[in-house]
Order: sequence, then C-alpha cells, then structure tokens
Amino acid sequence: MGKILGIDLGTTNSLAAVWQEGESCLIPNSFGEYLTPSVVSFEADDTVYVGKTAKERLVSHPAQSFSVFKRFMGTDQRYEVNGKQYRPEELSAFVLRRLKEDAERYLGELIEEAVISVPAYFNDKARKATKDAGKLAGLKVERIINEPSAAALACRGLDEENDETFLVFDFGGGTLDVSLVDCFDNIIEIIAVSGDNHLGGSDFDKEIAVQFCREHELEFEHISSQRQRIILESASRAKCGLSEEKEVVMKVTDGEFEGQMEMSNKKLIEISMPLFERISVPVKRVLHDGKKNMLDISKVILVGGSCKMPSVQQYLRHMLGEYSLTVMNPDHMVALGVGTYAGIKERREDIKDLLLTDICPFSLGTGIFNAGNAKRTLMSTIIERNSVLPCSHRAHFQTASDYQKYVVIDVYQGEEYYADNNIHLGEVKVGVPLAPKGKETVTVDYTYDINGILIVDVEVDSTGEKKRQVITTGTDNMSSEEIKKRVEQLEKMKLSPADQEENQMLFAWGERLYAQTTGALKNEIGERLNFFQQLLHVEQNPYKVKKWKSGIEEFLRKAENYLDDSGIDWNPADIDSWYEEGDQDDERQEEDRRWYDGHLTH
Ligand code: ADP
Ligand code: MG
Repeated sequence: MGKILGIDLGTTNSLAAVWQEGESCLIPNSFGEYLTPSVVSFEADDTVYVGKTAKERLVSHPAQSFSVFKRFMGTDQRYEVNGKQYRPEELSAFVLRRLKEDAERYLGELIEEAVISVPAYFNDKARKATKDAGKLAGLKVERIINEPSAAALACRGLDEENDETFLVFDFGGGTLDVSLVDCFDNIIEIIAVSGDNHLGGSDFDKEIAVQFCREHELEFEHISSQRQRIILESASRAKCGLSEEKEVVMKVTDGEFEGQMEMSNKKLIEISMPLFERISVPVKRVLHDGKKNMLDISKVILVGGSCKMPSVQQYLRHMLGEYSLTVMNPDHMVALGVGTYAGIKERREDIKDLLLTDICPFSLGTGIFNAGNAKRTLMSTIIERNSVLPCSHRAHFQTASDYQKYVVIDVYQGEEYYADNNIHLGEVKVGVPLAPKGKETVTVDYTYDINGILIVDVEVDSTGEKKRQVITTGTDNMSSEEIKKRVEQLEKMKLSPADQEENQMLFAWGERLYAQTTGALKNEIGERLNFFQQLLHVEQNPYKVKKWKSGIEEFLRKAENYLDDSGIDWNPADIDSWYEEGDQDDERQEEDRRWYDGHLTH
C-alpha cells in the first residue's frame, strides 16, 4: 500500500503531512515552508499558480486570482477567468495538486490517496465537494476527518495525564470550530462539536479595513476591488503585528493614495466587539450538548492562526475564567493530526491501537406534515447531532391525508424548525395502498457511516415493499461523469513548475508592488521587472538569474519596507545602492551591468 497523504485544506493556508517513523511529519513546499496559502491564480496561457505566488497576484491580477473559496464549497458559487468557469472544488483541486506534487517530490514516491480534513460544521454537500476536489486532483479520498478531531489526535499524549476531557478551540481564517474531546487510554472520543462557519481571521481584517476607510472618508464597499485587497492585506498585516507589539501603524499605499491608521489591541477589540461576542456561542453550545461544564474541562487547546491574537486569548480567559490555555503550534496542529490519521488508515503497526471515535456534527431528519401550516413541513430529526459514528436510527411515520398514493421521505440536514430551512439532501418515494389518513405506515432507517455516506431505507409496513437510497451526491454536487470530464480538462492546465516557483514568486511580488506604487519607485520596480523578465525568458542564463535574484529581492524588500513603514525616508539613489555595491570581484559583473543597462535603454 502506498503512502497516504494527510491534508489540512484550509481557508487561508493548506498543509500536508505523512506518518513516518512513528510520527506525523509535515511536508515542506518548494519554498521550504509548511504553509501554502490557499490561493489560486491563472495566466492567460492556462498556467496556474498556487500558494505564495498566487497570493501576491491577488493585488496585481485581482480578476484572475482567487482566495477564500473554501467558504463556498458545495454551493453554486462560480469563479470566472479567461472565459472559463470554475467551481470552488475545482479551485481547491489545484491547491491539492500542488500539495500532492510537493509531497511526491519531497518523499520521492507517487501519492495516490489522501485523507482531507474539513471543519466539523461542513454540511454534507461541502464534504462531498471536498472529496470531489480530491478526485479532480487525481487523489483517492475515502476518508474525510473533522478538523477538531484531527487537532485532538495531534494533542493526544501531550500531558502525562491520560484520562481527561478538553476543549479544542480552532480559530482559522474563515471558520471557528469548538469541540469537546474525551481521552482515555488509546481512545479519543469526540463528545460534541459546534462552530461558526462564517467567523474567522478574515472578519477581523475586514473590520480593520472598514475602520481604515471610515477614518479616510472612503466607503469600503464602493472602492475598487484592487484597493479593497490592498487595504485588506494591510489590515491583516496590522492585525498580525498586534500579536507582537501593543501598537502598530497600518499604512496603505495605492498609487496616489496614501493613508495610515494607528491600531492597538484595545482599538481592535472596540471595533470588532460583535465578532468577539459570537465566539462565545459555540463554546456554550458544545458544553451544553456534551452535558459538561467548565469544571469538567482540564484544558483548552488553541488551534488555528487566529488564536495567535492576544485579544482572542484575552477574551477566552475573560469568558472561561483563569483556564490553562494551551497554545502549542496553532498553525500545525490540524495537519499533524491528519498525518496521524493517515497513519491509522495505513494500519501502521505503531499506532494501530489508537482509536478515534467521531460524531455526526449535524442532525439528519425528514419533513413531516405541519397541521398549523400545510405549506411548510416541520423537521423531524432521525439522527441527532453529535451521535457517535457509525450510527443507525429508526423512525415510523404515517400517511397525512386520505387516500394518498405515495409517501415521500425528504432527507434534510440541519437544526432548523421548518424543514425547508435545512439543507435538502435528497428524497425517497414509495407507493402505499390507498387508505384513510393515518392508516398506512412506513418504517424509515437512516444509517450514517464514518465516510459521510447516508443510507436511507424505507419500508411500507402493510406491503413489505422496500426502497433504499444511498445519499452520496446533493443536487449541486458534480456527477461522476462530470468529474471524469473535468479531470481531463483540468489536467491540461499546468501548475507553474516547482523549480521556477521562487523566480515566479519574486516576479509576482514585484508586480504587486508595481501596482501599489507611483512615480519614481514605480518606474524603478518596472525596470527591474523588465530586466528580470529578460533574464528569465530571453537570456535564460541560470548563472545570471541566480546572481541577480538576491539583488532584486533585496530591492523589493526595501521597497516594501518603504511602503510599510513611514519611518524610512526613501530615495531612489539609496535603494539603488544594492546594485552599485554588488560584488565587484569579476568581469562578469561589468558584463552584466552593460547588458542590464543596454536593456534598460531600449
Ligand atoms: P485556515 O485554517 O482557515 O486556513 P489558519 O489556521 O491558517 O486558517 O489561520 C489563518 C488566519 O490566522 C488568518 O486570518 C491570519 O490572518 C491569522 N493569523 C495568522 N498569524 C497570525 C498572527 N500572528 N496574529 C494574528 N492572526 C494571525
Ligand atoms: Mg485550519
């Protein structure tokens, strides 16, 4: 059996891990980094950038670059670029392909199968879309694991104490997941999960950006999407800066526009109070569902990038009392856990005894006749949320009107009172003998397994007629023929080659700065980009590329600092000194210089 890749497919960042030599190991990408931004950007020739390079292109090529698509998995959201349309799962497939290729290069073997983590609160459609993303990336994905369960796996055995109940608080870029976990010997039991699918770090970025606009008499919703992205990016940097410093200055430069705003943790809390208040909702709910109170909890484990915010930690302490918040490595926990799970799935000797029991994070049921309002059926729950998987539950229903010909079991997922406010997953229709209402009855069994497959069995009690439906694809999901067809189309699109990734990233960075600046600095950046482009594509001399790369990088860094920090007084001559001061030791330097100058004067 080949290696199984564990993937944390995040809203903001994605990571991969494998089980190796008795532990879960993270896999570095072509930059030697573990975090690959979940951003995809397209070139007109169908080259696809993924990760850091694509992230730079969000500002310089906003119409061709996409992020945060995980939030729309399983919905009818579509992304258009170069005359083609992509589903969220197709954009995710590019991220998965990048992780797969990076892993294959790093491990020196082909990868055919993956386990992917998803937020516990992902509904069935979003889970199916995630599996489809795997297929589209050429990966077999049998198993999806809830992110908090993965985090719990990674936390196992952190303390001497073996028997304990803890909370995992996973606060990422777009989602918040809270789960209640019980650990006993080798059994990790997820007791309850709760969360907010639309609350994450990017919401704080947005609040900061909106505040910035308020202070500069701009209306966030009415500025160009490019400026929005520049301001959001700057807001995010300011927010991350507040993890290190008490106060930071957020500076925005976009062409002629320049503005700055002072930020502190106090101000952040003031402008985003409603977000903080939403944090407490799933925490309370998970304790209630799990029939526990804080006294039963031995610790709270913080996972996800947004847990690095001091204001979030402060708020949690305030809400929970003086609890021992365990901050390990918030960025890596989920991926490490998925890597462990990949090991369990490979049935590795060293962890085969470890058992993870998972639960169904949402309720599954059907719509029943509503005597008060015949137009809207009510939700009747068959499998309750937080039931341990795999599980099977039975319910009985009777006909609601005289001489009805059929009974239709509509399958819904969710917690809402009215059935149609929940997610419709499918239906099963059976014929019943004509009879007065209430005379005919059916028995319905719902069986939900660990792979997220729901089987609905309906039996007509009087005739014994049975019907079984395996609910695997919601109406918005792709059919297997569609997937097959798309795999061929997407395969033709090439990911930017990994060995050129660094150069491309440098170029994308330069393009972003070019888009953001004006005047002399813009020209300087443009000239260097031209020069670099010539080196890469016309001259194609690896020696020269290598030689000039660090100089250009240095230049871009200085330009970035200049934009970021009003303290630096920029003068084109200063920034140029990298070039004058470059190593003078050989004649090539002169030759390069002539070549460089020559190109500049064209
Ligand atoms: P996801 O699981 O959604 O991909 P991550 O767990 O990687 O997300 O967290 C990403 C979020 O964490 C982003 O919103 C990012 O701005 C935020 N983040 C990362 N580092 C820090 C930091 N040092 N301080 C504050 N927020 C941070
Ligand atoms: Mg995450």
